[in-house]
Amino acid sequence: MTEITTFSVAETLKALKNKEFSAVELTKAYLHNMENGRQYNAYITECADVALKQAEEADKRYINGTNRALEGIPLGIKDLFCTKDIRTTAASHILDNFVPPYESTVTQHLLDDGAVFLGKLNLDEFAMGGSNETSYFGPVINPWSKDKPLVPGGSSGGSAAAVAAHLCAAATGTDTGGSIREPAAFCGITGIKPTYGRCSRYGIVAFASSLDQAGPIAQDVRDCAILLKSMAGFDEKDSTSCNITVPDYESFLNREVKGLTIGLPKEYRPEGLNPEVAAYWDKAAEYLKARGANIKEISLPHTKYALATYYVLAPAEASSNLARYDGIRYGFRADGQHLDDLYINTRTQGFGAEVRRRIMIGTYVLSAGYYDAYFLKAQKMRRLIHNDFMNAFKECDVILTPTSPITAFPIGDESMLQNPINMYLNDVFTVSVNLAGLPALSLPIGLSATGLPYGMQLIGKPFDEGTLFNVAAKIETDAKFERK
Ligand code: GLN
Repeated sequence: MTEITTFSVAETLKALKNKEFSAVELTKAYLHNMENGRQYNAYITECADVALKQAEEADKRYINGTNRALEGIPLGIKDLFCTKDIRTTAASHILDNFVPPYESTVTQHLLDDGAVFLGKLNLDEFAMGGSNETSYFGPVINPWSKDKPLVPGGSSGGSAAAVAAHLCAAATGTDTGGSIREPAAFCGITGIKPTYGRCSRYGIVAFASSLDQAGPIAQDVRDCAILLKSMAGFDEKDSTSCNITVPDYESFLNREVKGLTIGLPKEYRPEGLNPEVAAYWDKAAEYLKARGANIKEISLPHTKYALATYYVLAPAEASSNLARYDGIRYGFRADGQHLDDLYINTRTQGFGAEVRRRIMIGTYVLSAGYYDAYFLKAQKMRRLIHNDFMNAFKECDVILTPTSPITAFPIGDESMLQNPINMYLNDVFTVSVNLAGLPALSLPIGLSATGLPYGMQLIGKPFDEGTLFNVAAKIETDAKFERK
């Protein structure tokens, strides 16, 4: 691995500007890492030709002085973002031959800023999962694995593994219930799920539309700030996108935490919380306290209903969103004697087990007779969870919690695979944020006794990603976490 592929995005931009190396050299170095890193299975599709062309264009712009904000930065794109003329699979058999004729808004923003696309990154099928094991293209291996291969977390597992193993300078992710933050935590890197409406969902394969948000996964807090600035912004093509100015997120890194109040929700410290997790949580709070922040215990009383609420609403929306994959219009088609046969065969063969499970749960909770008992109740609970946060933010500026109760676990872990509920339980600290539409960032805090990374989560007020960057930068400085 050449040294230049260990640089952060900020460092790389500086070096490119100073002509220490060219964008083509840099892209070739990453393509080389990708070739040597295929054992991680991080990429579903590599696009070297596209990348080299974009890098040549970047070099021209550096020479004639028209270089843009991300000129020549080699990125990996989660394979849930539609990329024009580049295959986009959502890690599903049902889309494994789909080449979109259009570009998602978020990736268009990145291209407009001069980014180079190295390829499309692996994920859980349709982003449904927490370990990247539901991908049709096989599991991703966490670069922190030692004797046994470990999961990178999910669903943006390819994105997190690729960033941690330097198979791209940074990556895009999406987060419906934790899919940016959990893999970032498991792979010892940083990711942010912005406020719902901050990034356009146009051209992102939909999972649960009222929860889905795009965001960056990168080596550090500054890189996330740089990337989010490019990805975010109002888009007429997404009716839920918000027309609110996108600030210069990097400028928040220089602010102080003195005088800020940091809330620690007592419900996130149940009896039996892993003592290592609790200790790191306290440590993070101490770092902020030493810098003059106030630490305050807060309450989010409906936390215990969050998982149940999420696992009713997310499948309900998924079952509706995935109705479009019928084998008629695009994607994989299985033969059938009659139209019904064709539908049934296509959807049975085209979707994996976890996706079929969600479609069935979702259809069930939306069906006559069960709608009131499940879907409607979950919608009401969602409002109460949102209100919890709004009340908490009357007393604090930011909320600090662990990202996950555990570290990366082995691929094929029986307890998770045999009982999906065990997998769902890992999302206990992340799903409330999506239900409430809030921004949340995960950054690495330290290693377990077994040498695996833990993440800390910061949750912010709506559209206050800036304060998350401010606070996260201080924890990052004090924790001195050593990346892979
Ligand atoms: N693990 C959660 C799920 O399986 C979250 C996934 C996501 O955020 N895309 O639904």
